[in-house]
Amino acid sequence: MKQFECGSLVPGCTWHTEAEEGAEIVRRAAEHLRTAHGESVIRPGMVEQIKARVHEAAESRRQQA
Ligand SMILES: [Zn+2]
Repeated sequence: MKQFECGSLVPGCTWHTEAEEGAEIVRRAAEHLRTAHGESVIRPGMVEQIKARVHEAAESRRQQA
C-alpha cells in the first residue's frame, strides 16, 4: 500500500490518500488539488512532485500472496 500526504506538497493541508498503485495515488491527488486547491490544470511538474512524495504506508501490514 502506498500513501501520499498533501501536506508534504501544500503546507497545512491534512488531506491524505492510500492506494495500491502509485498511478491511483497520482490520480486522486490531482483530483484533490483541482477541487481543494483550485489547480485547474495539473502540470507535468506537479505530477512529478506528487510521485516524489508517494511512499509506502509504514503501518499497513502487507499480505504476501
Ligand atoms: Zn491538499
